[in-house]
Amino acid sequence: MATDYYAVLGVRRDASQDEIKKAFRRLARELHPDVNPDPKTQERFKEINAAYEVLSDPQKKQVYDLGGDPLSANGGGGPGGFGAGGFGNFSDIMDAFFGTASQRGPRSRTRRGQDAMIRLEIDLNEAAFGTTKDIQVDTAVVCTTCSGEGAAPGTSAQTCDMCRGRGEVSQVTRSFLGQVMTSRPCPQCQGFGTVVPTPCPECAGDGRIRSRRTLTVKIPAGVDNGTRIQLAGEGEVGPGGGPAGDLYVEIHELAHAVFQRRGDDLHCTVTIPMTAAALGTKCPLETLDGLEEIDVRPGTQSGQSIPLHGRGITHLRGGGRGDLIVHVEVMTPSKLDPEQERLLRELAQLRGEERPTGQFQPGQQGLFSRLKDAFNGR
Ligand SMILES: [Zn+2]
Ligand SMILES: [Zn+2]
Repeated sequence: MATDYYAVLGVRRDASQDEIKKAFRRLARELHPDVNPDPKTQERFKEINAAYEVLSDPQKKQVYDLGGDPLSANGGGGPGGFGAGGFGNFSDIMDAFFGTASQRGPRSRTRRGQDAMIRLEIDLNEAAFGTTKDIQVDTAVVCTTCSGEGAAPGTSAQTCDMCRGRGEVSQVTRSFLGQVMTSRPCPQCQGFGTVVPTPCPECAGDGRIRSRRTLTVKIPAGVDNGTRIQLAGEGEVGPGGGPAGDLYVEIHELAHAVFQRRGDDLHCTVTIPMTAAALGTKCPLETLDGLEEIDVRPGTQSGQSIPLHGRGITHLRGGGRGDLIVHVEVMTPSKLDPEQERLLRELAQLRGEERPTGQFQPGQQGLFSRLKDAFNGR
């Protein structure tokens, strides 16, 4: 044998695939041409690649372990390779192959079920305080007729006679490289190693049936649009009675007529007449906690905001609540009757405001851009 691939990778002959992979990765990092362009190192790099190619591939590894070299043109079973008598009789070699193959074993009929996701609409109030919801879930559950086995009652799965339970069949074919051994999943049992002669009539052998059930889900206070609540083991049951996947409930929060949510704060706008802004007023507001009076101080300007601390959404983590922020918009009267106009002119005269020129200031921002800045965290 020209090259000892195990020695190249520095692993024992009984090293596991994991150990082989680890050894290769460590060496590949060390010897990679990008790291170490020295020609000798590059030669080493080629060697470890070749060794890994063989030892990481169960089929090539078998050929190699039996004395062939799957990377050389005549090593894989040509003259002097297996089949020519050098390795004992043919069935010994088959056994050697099948012996290793059966360690991999047939694949299990039992697999974990898939995760499922369901969207749940809730309103702002429910998001703020949490709620409990009943949801309808269409999912796969274990077939009660066969208890997930997939076989009709009174029958059972039987060892596949084509692969004798190994789940795969091997074939020796003659190619220009010599004799080549290939394995593929058994066509009769699809690799399960067993066949179900009489499938369960209820689930057609899948071991599960679709069913609709009602689940009660507790929605914690503070959830937001897109929050996913994981319900372990409430997803689909797997084939062959396998464990169930998880169910995710994705929250979709419905828009509120008055409040807009930003994080855990709520925002709304109250529009008041110019006179009320000057004189002060109290506005009733239906908050999440019931009716409250918003105290608009005399002299309130358009764009000012009135915070109601702790009247927002409950923080999902840590407790406490966000704020409710009322933005004030002052409405200027657009139509004046003669009497109103006379009174306003009189007021303007009293305040010396008949010919105001206006005051310009840099950086005065409107309500909209201030809201945007607050949202962007500036
Ligand atoms: Zn069934
Ligand atoms: Zn089979």
